[in-house]
Amino acid sequence: MGTSIAFFLSAQTDLDVTLVEKDGIATGSTGDSSAILRHHYGDQTIYSKMAWWSHQFYRNFNEETGEVIAHIDNPLVRFGRENTDPGNYAKAGYETLQSLNIPVTKHESEKLPDRYSMIADVESFDFGISDDAAGYSDGSDAANGFARAAQQNGVTVVTGVGAETIKVEEDSIVGVKTEEGDIECDTVVVAAGSWTPRLGEKLGVDIPITTTREQILILDPPEAYKAKYPSLVPTTALPGGNWYIRPDFGDGILVATHHTDEEVNPDHYDGNPDEEIILELTEQISNMIPELKEAGLRGKYCGVYSTTPDHDFILDQAGPEGCYFACGFSGHGFKHGPAIGKIMTDLVVEGTTDMVDVDFFSLDRFEGSPHGHGKAVDDV
Ligand SMILES: Cc1cc2nc3c(=O)[nH]c(=O)nc-3n(C[C@H](O)[C@H](O)[C@H](O)COP(=O)(O)OP(=O)(O)OC[C@H]3O[C@@H](n4cnc5c(N)ncnc54)[C@H](O)[C@@H]3O)c2cc1C
Repeated sequence: MGTSIAFFLSAQTDLDVTLVEKDGIATGSTGDSSAILRHHYGDQTIYSKMAWWSHQFYRNFNEETGEVIAHIDNPLVRFGRENTDPGNYAKAGYETLQSLNIPVTKHESEKLPDRYSMIADVESFDFGISDDAAGYSDGSDAANGFARAAQQNGVTVVTGVGAETIKVEEDSIVGVKTEEGDIECDTVVVAAGSWTPRLGEKLGVDIPITTTREQILILDPPEAYKAKYPSLVPTTALPGGNWYIRPDFGDGILVATHHTDEEVNPDHYDGNPDEEIILELTEQISNMIPELKEAGLRGKYCGVYSTTPDHDFILDQAGPEGCYFACGFSGHGFKHGPAIGKIMTDLVVEGTTDMVDVDFFSLDRFEGSPHGHGKAVDDV
């Protein structure tokens, strides 16, 4: 998010911009992201619009930034049953995408076995809603591409240097104190992922996000499976499931947990998936796709989500004058990266944006109610 914001600020304004990264670019959640680019968000039009706008940007990344990112088309399907919450959610997204002219198809039960023949008992679902234009990319590609493009536009990119505090005088920003000296400025956008609450706290701004650990496996499908199913798997999750799959670059299959709710410290968490999770995920995937029972394990790692109580983002001016926050992107921020860069640039320059109703993402929604909007929207 920081690199996207730096890019849009440099592309759309004459401001003097410095990006400060305590580690390397994409060493946080972004580098571990599954980077699924979907548009289906139930009836949440605001997210579908941002995802669609951002996806066009990612598709045209080279024209827009001069940099190259990986991008693979892979429709995302939500299987559903009538009169269930996941089924209603899937159908609401179908209607929303139709209303926005975003490609979407409803496959009736009898069509599912032909289309998704690798999935056991797929005909037991009443329908499948296919987000036809979905795909996936790579977080490290995108963040590094944005950072290089921002640098080309004149942004100073400082890596390996942490921001310690944001300096304030008479309730206005006057600079950033870093591990290697001060940077004078009158505007700061804090987009520090899981670490944002620490910087917020020093300004007296409470950022209600928690950091949770997610576990990812890359499966190595048997040769016979790859020959039979060249597109490997659709991107999908079982309704109500807390895990998802998508093909991986090359010929692997990515399987990952989603909202394990295991709170961790972003500086110190186990980067190695737990043995019981590996067993559980491989069992679940073998049940769902029996021909993957003999799949090998090609890779494994963990990453962290930084999540607000309602799983909605925080995009707001808060605290001293000139201080903005872009955080709480949970397990669904990557697909909105370009839109976030544009929105934060609009907020800094204009104080508002015509891209979305940005009040939806205000920090003060938690003042009256610690649960904010109260409804999580980002089930895969
Ligand atoms: C396993 C996993 C799978 C995911 N899958 C998807 C998906 O399929 N689709 C999707 O849309 N989203 C997905 N997401 C979510 C998405 O990746 C995140 O929402 C997004 O990357 C968050 O970006 P960010 O810039 O806010 O945070 P980060 O990428 O964590 O960046 C924050 C940066 O701030 C730096 N920093 C922190 N403190 C300081 C400081 N004091 N000074 C200087 N620098 C500092 C950190 O080093 C870090 O590089 C996934 C996330 C994970 C972990």
